[in-house]
Amino acid sequence: MPVSSESAPAAGTLFVVATPIGNLGDMTPRGVDVLRQVDLIAAEDTRHSRRLAEHFGITTPMLALHEHNERSVAARLVDRLRLGESIALISDAGTPLISDPGYQLVRAARGAGVPVVPVPGASALVAALSVAGLPTDRFVFEGFLPPRQAARRKRLAALKDEPRTLVFYEASHRIVDSLRDVMEVFGPGRRALLARELTKAFETTLSGGLGALYERVVADPDQQRGEFVLVVQGAPAPDAAAVTPEAERLMSLLLEELPVGKAARLVARITGLNKRELYETAIKKNQDEPPADR
Ligand code: SAM
Repeated sequence: MPVSSESAPAAGTLFVVATPIGNLGDMTPRGVDVLRQVDLIAAEDTRHSRRLAEHFGITTPMLALHEHNERSVAARLVDRLRLGESIALISDAGTPLISDPGYQLVRAARGAGVPVVPVPGASALVAALSVAGLPTDRFVFEGFLPPRQAARRKRLAALKDEPRTLVFYEASHRIVDSLRDVMEVFGPGRRALLARELTKAFETTLSGGLGALYERVVADPDQQRGEFVLVVQGAPAPDAAAVTPEAERLMSLLLEELPVGKAARLVARITGLNKRELYETAIKKNQDEPPADR
């Protein structure tokens, strides 16, 4: 059961605690309480997280849990959770498990029947989406694109027709290359938002077509520094389904008895295709066909 900010954490609970993505003011009071009250904090980088702990007067012992030791450490932590200790998992920034370690531990804890409780807060993914001005009712989070160009372009080609808004993470040393590949594969006109250094002193959000965004970033080395989230508009919905051969056959049969408008209306009702498109196809076909012999 989730604890309130006043109550002590239930014994034997794994808390997954979000930390700020830059601005320390985004640390939640509940997150601070949980970090103070648990027996142990499992942190991606203990040196980095000690600065956060010091800032908030947190003296809880810390242990490193990162991608290279997660499997073995997770097993040990689950033993401690089983014995009734409470543990908080944090990463260097934002929400653990979102392009960050923690999956093995959460899975192992759940497998052992240990309660796992989220303490939500910042995440660059949601922060960028919330200001992108692109549809957010459905979206896909793609994390980091592959570092090598061939693999990156292959991944992008597979995503080219994805209709949902796409979200990518990127690091400063690859932002220009990745942005160029996204622009070339998705087309320069596709709308996007590039969010840089969110919640920090040099926060910038650039929006516009991918082509314009790329030019802007290439031209200004300052725009290549820091941490990035790229939010890209999904592929436009295809136009009304194209006229199928079956619909064309039906249309030419009806045209033997009916005027074009009526035939198009009937075929549209039968097939669900667009009436105007059926009408225009029939007119065009009529013009293209040589006059019948008399
Ligand atoms: N767990 C984090 C979260 O919830 O957003 C993400 C961790 S991932 C290892 C780091 C990446 O997140 C960065 O390379 C960048 O793409 C994105 N990111 C993190 N903080 C950011 C910020 N302040 N502004 C823009 N992007 C950020």
